[in-house]
Amino acid sequence: MHELGIAASILESVQSEALRHPGGRITKVGVKIGELCGVDRDALQFGFEVLVKDTEWEPVVLDLEYIPRVQRCSKCAHQFRMTDFDPQCPQCGEFLTDCIGGEELDIAYMEVDE
Ligand SMILES: [Zn+2]
Repeated sequence: MHELGIAASILESVQSEALRHPGGRITKVGVKIGELCGVDRDALQFGFEVLVKDTEWEPVVLDLEYIPRVQRCSKCAHQFRMTDFDPQCPQCGEFLTDCIGGEELDIAYMEVDE
């Protein structure tokens, strides 16, 4: 299961961040998930809860932020939300547009109780 592997790597990041805050406690971890990653948010949330259950990490809240796919036109630099797998620029009709958002899979922030 793809999502369980991601949940495990998020937990690893939480654990290494915790080492840098001795005496502190991580309460929340925010993760950005791009549309193109094909990650099922519910499955990821569930996988994380399963991983931390009955461990010292159980109180950590996973906050998932969904990043939609965004294209930028190579001709007029217009940025738009891509829908229906149609990369055409809605402003000038150009087909050559670049993906500039939606591939993220990053830790956005962590909240630490000092
Ligand atoms: Zn354009």
